[in-house]
Amino acid sequence: MPGILSFDDLKSLVANGTIDTVLTCLVDMQGRLMGKRFHAVNFVENSYKETHCCNYLLATDLEMATPEGYASSSWQSGYGDYVMKPDLGTIRLMPWLEGTAMVLCDILDHHTHEPISHSPRTILKKQVTRLKTLGFDAMMATELEFFLFEQSFDDIRKSGFREMRPISGYNEDYHILQTTKEEGVMRPIRNHLFAAGIPIENSKGEAETGQEELNIRYADALDCADHHTIAKHAVKEIAWQQGRAATFLPKWDHTKVGSSSHVHQSLWQGGEPAFYDKSDNLGMSDLMRHYMAGLIAYSPDYTYFLAPYVNSYKRFSKGTFAPTKSVWSVDNRTAGFRLCGDGTKGVRVECRIGGSDINPYLAQAVMLAAGIKGIEDKMKLAPATTGDVYEDSKAADIPQTLRMATEKLRASEFLRTALGDDVVDHYTRAAEWEQEEFDRVVTDWEIARGFERA
Ligand code: ADP
Repeated sequence: MPGILSFDDLKSLVANGTIDTVLTCLVDMQGRLMGKRFHAVNFVENSYKETHCCNYLLATDLEMATPEGYASSSWQSGYGDYVMKPDLGTIRLMPWLEGTAMVLCDILDHHTHEPISHSPRTILKKQVTRLKTLGFDAMMATELEFFLFEQSFDDIRKSGFREMRPISGYNEDYHILQTTKEEGVMRPIRNHLFAAGIPIENSKGEAETGQEELNIRYADALDCADHHTIAKHAVKEIAWQQGRAATFLPKWDHTKVGSSSHVHQSLWQGGEPAFYDKSDNLGMSDLMRHYMAGLIAYSPDYTYFLAPYVNSYKRFSKGTFAPTKSVWSVDNRTAGFRLCGDGTKGVRVECRIGGSDINPYLAQAVMLAAGIKGIEDKMKLAPATTGDVYEDSKAADIPQTLRMATEKLRASEFLRTALGDDVVDHYTRAAEWEQEEFDRVVTDWEIARGFERA
């Protein structure tokens, strides 16, 4: 891919003045890029080895609060440092920013230089390694859906989030005429990301006013999560450059369809698709059936990682293409898990539960863990569901609230074994905190409903 740089490439571009800034980034619990903007000369001479950050970056929320209850970081322990260790295999251009390259970092303990277990990249790497020990590689693709608005982030914020005008006036699903009108934002998104080494497949209009989808070619799980994170970041920055806003909030208006991030998954062995068996009527290997059985059976345990905020659960509503049931089906968009590419080497499972607010490292890691459990225990896959799954009363429900998902996470023996108790406790605390913050606040809905009439 163009745009991916070796360390030597970077040094040459710095020496000839093409690059003057290196964004040195970690991925936080929310899936955001956080870090520092290095002068490129300092980076190539010194800071490529390591830099530092406050350890609250992996124990905060969207508002950068300092919640109590995390074992890893606290006022008590003085909020010390982590080491940010640049992964020099992830250096790339950021063509939408002048003279700028970026690198992703792994997070290490300040003293021992051991990986920090609750860092999203560490969590995914651990599951990828487990899978490699079984002899398989995971190929994943995460779709990015979001809404574009006429106004900028600042204008929307200044209006108290009341003046929010989607960029189109009608449902633009697959709409070429409407998406032509949005090329001022979407074309630079596709082209700059491609030039940054992200294998963009396409963008398309989605099934709401102002809703977009961006598709990236499937890749190794860790690359896929890196691609997703950088692409989401670029969408916001490029929208901002064009005076527009883009939101990945899964449900910004309860009368409209929400935004998801479907995750396509397949396992490979020696470069060949291990989910494919041509003798099966759907082309599914036994390995795929075991993987899917684990994926489905443990989905309540890991739903939190697919829906990490109070708002995420507003998306799960009937008749909106967002699933409500944890079952599988063949090419049927009403179920939580959809078999795609049946009968072909591209056979794969798409999990449709995740919202556009997922942290892709965490979402992929827990799904791989569930699939591995299915393989290890040779779990049996139930027959596919058919018809309108929304109305199937026998099909298991996806946890319907953050509270329910938090309790499933806290009690999950499977996740405690796969991720470690410390990791499950850390993210359970994040989930609790999110709910506590919501419970504390008086919402617009309560005021409008009760101010006069209560
Ligand atoms: P949809 O109709 O859901 O948009 P697409 O055919 O566009 O489906 O594919 C969606 C995603 O699936 C793309 O990002 C593509 O790269 C990915 N994909 C294709 N084959 C595989 C595979 N074998 N494993 C994982 N992902 C795959």
